[in-house]
Amino acid sequence: MTRRRVALVTGGAKGIGKAITEKLAVAGFSVAINYNTSEQAAFDLVAKLQSRGVNALAVKADVSDFNAVKRMYDECRAYFGFVDTLVNNAGISLIKPLYECTEADFDRVIAVDLKSVFNTCRIFTPDMTSEGFGRIVNVSSVWGEYGGSTETLYSAAKAGVIGFTKALNAELARGGVIVNSVSPGFINTSMNAELCEADVAAFLESVSVGRVGSPEEVAEAVEFLTRENLYVAGANLSVNGGIL
Ligand code: NAD
Repeated sequence: MTRRRVALVTGGAKGIGKAITEKLAVAGFSVAINYNTSEQAAFDLVAKLQSRGVNALAVKADVSDFNAVKRMYDECRAYFGFVDTLVNNAGISLIKPLYECTEADFDRVIAVDLKSVFNTCRIFTPDMTSEGFGRIVNVSSVWGEYGGSTETLYSAAKAGVIGFTKALNAELARGGVIVNSVSPGFINTSMNAELCEADVAAFLESVSVGRVGSPEEVAEAVEFLTRENLYVAGANLSVNGGIL
């Protein structure tokens, strides 16, 4: 491929998404940084990357809203001409026993963590298929693989992301569009800010390397899965320090 790569990272201004955006920029990508509420963080990151010569754009959209994602696609197309790489990173967690979960909780978690992946893939993949090239990396979770106590809705949505990834890869990979997922374990971001030290210590007992991971360590795995020469397809790459 001779032309410059262009990646869209959803929720790309903070936490793991920010590390992915920065990693892809270093790897030579132009980057579209999706945000919903983190406007200042998105514009700060654009300014930082542009000062390093990276072609970067901040694009607002609630990724759970199909029409908002369509508008984001139009904006990306107008600015970059094409997007060949999609990283579905935006997500929310919900820690609540099932008996306290409401129907609204279910709808919200499924919409942000799973429907969002449908929205972006549905809207962005036709161009990739036409071009005969695309890379998609969906961010699932260790709980999508193992199921987390008091995180039923989140675990269900993230398990759905893994199934969606495998099915879409089966559908598109022969046309050059490869789809994989990564499943981070305990990563040091604001998503885990409310967990107390005892919860963290209890979780780390089941982590073979005995420490939490960093956003940069997840970004390394994502960057690998965006590469042009890739024989990993329809896979779910666990980035969890080795669950015991
Ligand atoms: P974070 O809260 O720091 O970042 C999540 C990002 O998603 C934020 O920028 C947020 O604004 C954005 N976002 C949320 N809802 C959105 C919406 N409707 N539209 C657009 N953007 C939206 O959390 P993080 O830890 O960086 O999480 C990133 C991803 O990694 C999530 O999908 C999360 O489920 C997954 N993950 C995180 C961990 C962890 O331990 N931190 C573990 C496994 C999986």
